Amino acid sequence: MIKIENLSTSYKTIDGDVHVLNDLNFTINDDEIFGIAGESGCGKTTLLKTLYDIVDWPLVIDKGQVVLSGEKDGRPYSFSSGQIRKSWWNNISYVPQAAQSVLDPITRLKKQFLDSIPEEDRKKETKAETLNRVAGYLEELNLSPDILEAYPFQLSGGMRQRVIIALATFMSPGVVLADEPTTALDVVVQRGILMMLTKLQKQLKNTMVIVSHDMGVHYQITDRMGIMYSGSMVELGPTEDIFSDPVHPYTTMLVNALPRVGDKSAKVGIPGRPPALKNPPPGCRFAPRCPYATDMCREQVPEFRQIKPGRYAACHQLKEGGGMTNG
Ligand code: SF4
Repeated sequence: MIKIENLSTSYKTIDGDVHVLNDLNFTINDDEIFGIAGESGCGKTTLLKTLYDIVDWPLVIDKGQVVLSGEKDGRPYSFSSGQIRKSWWNNISYVPQAAQSVLDPITRLKKQFLDSIPEEDRKKETKAETLNRVAGYLEELNLSPDILEAYPFQLSGGMRQRVIIALATFMSPGVVLADEPTTALDVVVQRGILMMLTKLQKQLKNTMVIVSHDMGVHYQITDRMGIMYSGSMVELGPTEDIFSDPVHPYTTMLVNALPRVGDKSAKVGIPGRPPALKNPPPGCRFAPRCPYATDMCREQVPEFRQIKPGRYAACHQLKEGGGMTNG
């Protein structure tokens, strides 16, 4: 489980602070695939890096923390921001954006697997025994163990992505974070990667967090999802409900802009652009693009609150249970 508690981060620049995440408060549960969606530049990747504890200057946590907790081999664990990196691979792993380029092109994959397994976790095995375990795991994932002898440059992009996912899940971590796992892959390969992630989550019964700008990815594999806008979480709930009944005006516009089978009507994008994070408008950051905006919206930051059971949103004009007061 990951708890995100009052989390605010910023990048320190010579021109001042760029506030990237603003007071985020939510929980990602055990045994679920959780999606994080939003337009590019909304803070999705910074959030994922902060969950994984890659908070290196000029990125700074201004307030709050992330808490990773769970149980492994019968022993409970709990790590907060600053300590989470102690549990990399074992309890939490990360598939970064453009992961395929993370593999060292001139090192055989067997060495890259061995290097990723901490010495203490080899359970007093010889290297050959560890490699046997890796080979068995690859077979479970329908990957040929022969690839252990290969160099990454000999594999296709889709195969390299599969190898990275195998590396990230080999130690059965309680949490796997994946940043845009299907970007730059063709549609057929994308489908294979999504099926692999779903199968792994079912097998490990762990927490999987998928960041993607592609709403189709969320629709296909996530159980719950959060929609980010300009560094804030604006809506969160079960994926199915968010697609069938979005409540926040931004989510509603995002969902309405999606193409649907049989619907020949012209789709329009969301007018305007997200604000610059360095100098965002006061109040609700979506106000300049929102058809429901009032003076209050332009002056006060909306609270992220429960609208109905399991559904959360940040909007002044949302009524308890859904629907706009001025809609
Ligand atoms: Fe629109 Fe106001 Fe709600 Fe923001 S708070 S989304 S401006 S109605």
